[in-house]
Amino acid sequence: MKIAIMGAMPEEIEPILSRVGEYSCIKIAGNSYYQCSYGGHELIVAYSKIGKVFSALTATIMCKHFGAECMLFSGVAGAISSELSIGDLVVATELVQHDLDISAFGHPYGFVPEGKQFIETSTNLRALAKRVALAQGVDLRDAVIATGDQFVCDKKRKEWIGETFGADALEMEGASVAVVCDALGVDLLILRAISDSADMDAGFDFDEFLSSSAQVSAEFVLKMVESIE
Ligand code: SAH
Repeated sequence: MKIAIMGAMPEEIEPILSRVGEYSCIKIAGNSYYQCSYGGHELIVAYSKIGKVFSALTATIMCKHFGAECMLFSGVAGAISSELSIGDLVVATELVQHDLDISAFGHPYGFVPEGKQFIETSTNLRALAKRVALAQGVDLRDAVIATGDQFVCDKKRKEWIGETFGADALEMEGASVAVVCDALGVDLLILRAISDSADMDAGFDFDEFLSSSAQVSAEFVLKMVESIE
C-alpha cells in the first residue's frame, strides 16, 4: 500500500526519516516529499509547515500527486482535558476547526454550509491503532481534537474550545487534513503526543517537550505502518 506520513514541523518527521533507511526527495510547491519503502509498504513522508492552509496543501499533494491510499499524521498537541499529561499519546476520533466562525448567520462554530462541523477519522485505522497500542503496552487515548490557526496559550480560550466542541486536545493542522482526506476518500489517522497544556506555560513547555513528544508519536506511527496489511 502507498502510505502518507505527515507532520507539520521538521521535528515531527525527522524521527521517521531517521528510521526508514534510504529515501529519495522530490520538491513540489515549496515542500520536500521523501519516498522510501518500509514494512512492505511505499511511504511518502513530508512536513507541511504549520497551520491549516499549508497542511491542506501538503495533504492534497500527497493524495492527488503521489496517490497515497491512506494518511497517518504524526505530531504534537496541546492538552485541554486535565486527564492528559505531557508525553501522553492520543488518537483523534473526530476533528473540528475551532476558529471557523460564521455564527453571525446562526451557524454553529466550526461549520460552513455544505461542510461538516466534525470530521471522523477512519474507524479501521483507529481499531488497528488500538491493537498496536495493546501489543506495545502503549496507553493510547481517544480524543476529540480542535484545530485552528493559533498557538493557544490562554486558559480562557482553551476552556472555551473545550466547552464549545467537547474537545480534549488542540493543534493547528488536524482538521484541515481531515477535510482534505474526507473529500478525497482517503483513510486518515491522526496521532498526537501532548507537548503542553495550552495555558500560560504552553510556550515554555512546547519548546522543552516538542522533540520528546514528537518522538513518541513517530515511533507509534512506524509500528502502525508495520501492522498495516
Ligand atoms: N515553535 C514553533 C511554532 C510552534 S506552533 C516555531 O517557532 O516555529 C505549534 C505546533 O504544535 C503546531 O504545529 C500545532 O499543531 C502543535 N501544537 C502544540 N501545542 C499547541 C498549542 N498549545 N496550540 C496550538 N497548537 C499546538
